[in-house]
Amino acid sequence: MGGFFGVVSKGSCIMDLFFGTDYHSHLGTYVGGMAVCNEETGFDRSIHRITNKQFRSQLESAAARMKGSIGIGCISDTDPQPLLVCSRLGNYAITTVGRINNKDELVQKALADGHAQFLELSSNRGVNETELVASLINEKTTIEEGIRHAQEMIDGSMSVLIATKDGIYAARDLVGRTPVVIGMKEDALCASFESHAYLNLGYHTLKELGPAEVVFITADGIEPKLPPLPKKRMCAFMWTYYGYPTANYEGVNVEASRNRCGQMLAENDKDKNIRVDYVGGIPDSGTAAAIGYANASGVPFARPFIKYTPTWPRSFMPQNQNMRNQVAHMKLIAIDELIRDKSLLLVDDSIVRGTQMGETVDFLYESGAREVHVRPACPPVMYGCKYLNFSRSTSDMDLIARRCIVELEGGVPSDERVHVYADASTPEHAAMVERIREKLKFTTLSYPSVEMVSRSVQVPEDEICTYCWTGRE
Ligand code: SF4
Repeated sequence: MGGFFGVVSKGSCIMDLFFGTDYHSHLGTYVGGMAVCNEETGFDRSIHRITNKQFRSQLESAAARMKGSIGIGCISDTDPQPLLVCSRLGNYAITTVGRINNKDELVQKALADGHAQFLELSSNRGVNETELVASLINEKTTIEEGIRHAQEMIDGSMSVLIATKDGIYAARDLVGRTPVVIGMKEDALCASFESHAYLNLGYHTLKELGPAEVVFITADGIEPKLPPLPKKRMCAFMWTYYGYPTANYEGVNVEASRNRCGQMLAENDKDKNIRVDYVGGIPDSGTAAAIGYANASGVPFARPFIKYTPTWPRSFMPQNQNMRNQVAHMKLIAIDELIRDKSLLLVDDSIVRGTQMGETVDFLYESGAREVHVRPACPPVMYGCKYLNFSRSTSDMDLIARRCIVELEGGVPSDERVHVYADASTPEHAAMVERIREKLKFTTLSYPSVEMVSRSVQVPEDEICTYCWTGRE
């Protein structure tokens, strides 16, 4: 997916920009970059691949060289950024987080209108999406109008930071699927995707932007440019899986929301007479919900797997799915004493394809586990995300829930039938859950409802996006 960070300072912005961007490293594994505006020399930019080396080591020498008081940086899972743009709106640096489903159509339209050319072609991805956003912005006569125009033209989602010589425009996507938060300290303001990114740099939270809101920030303050719109669909998966435990979205902390979800899963199991020796979480994103489950149920929490962190940085994430599965397997090391002859209840953030969870459970049985009960911290994933570029994004038919529906239906079902299976109150849904359980050889399996997820993230159901579970837009 990716994340971004921008700083406007009365002094040098470089160190805050460097560390603030680095605190987004959990959101992407492809490229990282920074662009800084210097009053004397103009813009300076550096972009590096972070597939095998972390952002900090790759951008360290650029940070030592750069000078300036206004800058933006990003971690990107898709195209190289930030980009430097010369336009009728002036020179600026731009970085984006989002997804454009109608990219080909927008590119063809821009080319047909005769006012555009695209210089940043990424191998096998074609036109750089951030350059396309800049081209759309430049169709209008002010940057804020241009941002709104771009967002309205895009099928998908788009949050944007634009650094000019005077300050930074920060814009959240039209329905607030991803966060943008403004931080402040005595001599600087920042705009950040993640709210934890600026805390150790001395900033406090000034405000979280609403859906579609656009502001302009300088070192002296914040100037509203476009007000927020009422419709909100914050991505619920940010709390469940993607967000770092220290982040807050809509003012609600990720770790605490995962704890609450685990508590609710335990309450659901209260009358089921399930006896287990330990509750464990699949690291890292299943751990907080497992702790919540253990605390609420009174069953001891244990770590039957430990992640080998010294030589497997988060950033080593091959693009190839088979290799990713292999890496995920190699990172986790099992502890025989906590597995052999034990009944375990494992909590994971979600079950998407089912491959990793299936292999994990096979391994536990091979290692002598008696029973393996599984509790994902979100409902069955039924639809691939069409709004954000998650590295976990997948075609619908790769999802284990969909494969089970095909088996139960004896063929590919209509959209209406898939909706029936997505509805947790139907017998079809129960049959699908049972088929997933059988296929992956879990002793028991139960999921939280969407309503439980909404309660755990403390945001009303109609203000969070639940499309990947419900198909509702
Ligand atoms: S479809 Fe799922 S992953 Fe995508 S924005 Fe909505 S909740 Fe998030």
